[in-house]
Amino acid sequence: MLNDTICAISTALKDGAISIVRMSGDESFAIVRRISDVKEIKANTIVYSHIYDEGKIIDEVLISFFAAGKSYTREDMVEINCHGGVYVTRLILNLLLKSGCRLAEPGEFTKRAYLNGRIDLSEADSINDLIKAESMIQARSAIRGMNGSVERLITPLMDEMRDVISMIEVNIDYPEYEDERQMSNDVIAPYVRKWIKEAEEMIDKAERFRLVRDGLNTVIIGKPNVGKSSLLNALLEKDKAIVTDIAGTTRDLVEGKVNLKNITLNLIDTAGIRDTEERIERIGIEKSMKAAEEADLIILVVDASDISQEDRNLMERYRDRNMIVVYNKSDLNRTGEISISALNRDISSLTDYLNERYRDDICLAEEDILNNERQIALMKRCLDELRELAAHLEYDTTDVIVTNLDAAYHDLCQILGKEYQEDLIDHMFRNFCLGK
Ligand code: GDP
Repeated sequence: MLNDTICAISTALKDGAISIVRMSGDESFAIVRRISDVKEIKANTIVYSHIYDEGKIIDEVLISFFAAGKSYTREDMVEINCHGGVYVTRLILNLLLKSGCRLAEPGEFTKRAYLNGRIDLSEADSINDLIKAESMIQARSAIRGMNGSVERLITPLMDEMRDVISMIEVNIDYPEYEDERQMSNDVIAPYVRKWIKEAEEMIDKAERFRLVRDGLNTVIIGKPNVGKSSLLNALLEKDKAIVTDIAGTTRDLVEGKVNLKNITLNLIDTAGIRDTEERIERIGIEKSMKAAEEADLIILVVDASDISQEDRNLMERYRDRNMIVVYNKSDLNRTGEISISALNRDISSLTDYLNERYRDDICLAEEDILNNERQIALMKRCLDELRELAAHLEYDTTDVIVTNLDAAYHDLCQILGKEYQEDLIDHMFRNFCLGK
């Protein structure tokens, strides 16, 4: 039910200076009147008050009132800023529940914002992305998304498709109007080719950006003792992997996520790749070879003071992959373009190199692009429909191909959530935090 009044604790549930308990729905203002000193409510104000439970003061608070229409959910909303102890915050929440509120589901405030037309689905995606952002680039792209970047991106495409669909439909419905523009397959074909190109470009940009934003799956490879664990530690800036000078001690995969300026790497440190009879180490090596096969980026570490045939073999093996060679132990011998000293945590040349190499992709943060899996998947479906449509254009009549065109258009609508689909919506909002 959409018009019941919901409440939740919107801040993290741990001790802090203040917590915020939120309410949204028709009864919000009436409930506040019953549990506080506030009798006259003026919309869009903050007032000082006390909260009472059965006549006893339970906290001294600030209460913000937001009138329907202008609030986050577009319903009457109240935010109670109370003292931040978990106990007091829970007391207030329970009081609201006793007073006629229902506990909100995760994401329900934002779901209401969407259902009440304040934001579209792509903007809701971005609110969640902003909450979960772990780096500047993630936050920046989420803010763009919250401000309608996806709508700006796909609206021209949708407008053009809708125009073509309606002209085809006019032709079908009113064949006698011969002065209407006839949408023959020859007229439609150039449009379809253009849309396919645009959809491909949107998908390509979104996927490239997603890699640098969410993290390139990266494996560090190299023969034993070149400094792979030391590099991982330098990247992670903590001693997560064990460093020793006995060959072959990194037996298992050690993983970690690092932000290097604007690039995120999902790191997997791997066992030294070399021939060995030792069983446990062999398992480690198989794992690391497999990880390298699936990685987006391979960092091959070599010891700049001691480069051998084994290193050259590894360079050769991964030559066709997205691989970079890092020359470690630059304190002993300086050579190669990317020259670092993992031991001294001097890895700036690697950080700079990666940021330069992915500069074009990083800059996509400033463009209107598709922001996440859901949106990309729908654009791919749209592209499939368009490709099928292009094939049909060769041999089918216009009234047949309009089915594909409708389906393609429908996929674009779904990106913005322009058609209400309960399943999809529930699924999406369940990933939100409580109180958002
Ligand atoms: P891995 O087997 O490739 O993981 O190599 P480790 O990180 O365990 O390092 C092997 C040895 O090389 C250790 O004794 C490290 O202290 C040393 N080492 C790692 N990086 C450097 C470096 O930049 N300079 C010098 N001089 N020694 C290093």
